[in-house]
Amino acid sequence: MKSIAVFCGSSNGILSTYKEGAVKLGNELARQGITLIYGGASVGIMGTVADAVLKSGGKVVGVIPKMLEDREISHPNLTELIIVDSMHERKKKMTELADGFIALPGGPGTLEEFFEVFTWGQLGLHQKPCGILNIDHYYDLLIAFFEYMNKQQFLQDKYLSMAMVDSDPANLLEKFRTFTPPSIKTYIKESQT
Ligand code: AMP
Repeated sequence: MKSIAVFCGSSNGILSTYKEGAVKLGNELARQGITLIYGGASVGIMGTVADAVLKSGGKVVGVIPKMLEDREISHPNLTELIIVDSMHERKKKMTELADGFIALPGGPGTLEEFFEVFTWGQLGLHQKPCGILNIDHYYDLLIAFFEYMNKQQFLQDKYLSMAMVDSDPANLLEKFRTFTPPSIKTYIKESQT
């Protein structure tokens, strides 16, 4: 794995543990020589993870749309900052550049980005691992909801296990290395009665 895209909040969240977890992930990426691909902002958890990688001597590539350059205050010291025309282009570029995807604590933007790569994995549009870094139980409710989706038969077993979860960055990256992509999602047409 040469690079990992990290989706995360443009806010800090209420608990200091969220920032601490982002620093831990940033340090681990740098230690393993993995380039961070992220949204290019200097604010919130986004800025925290980027700063941690840079401080530890790692590489960071930011991808930010023109419209957010000022609002999310693009990070001034990245290894590379790619400026794109739209939100869609941002996600496309991040998906192309990364060998895997991790969600850190964040809001709707983070979930939107994570769900896109997760669903694209289901459809076989990429074969890259997707994981949730569940810092301080932030994603417990989402994980429970995934299980509920599965019980209600809206999420097949093979895709339930596709989203890898861990609270420790090194463990999550280790799980990524053993990832085998599930078979592509197919649909069963029920007979109409
Ligand atoms: P949030 O988790 O809501 O703080 O957002 C985190 C990041 O996701 C920010 O950089 C947002 O600009 C970005 N974001 C929000 N919505 C979208 C979207 N529809 N497509 C791509 N990025 C988004």
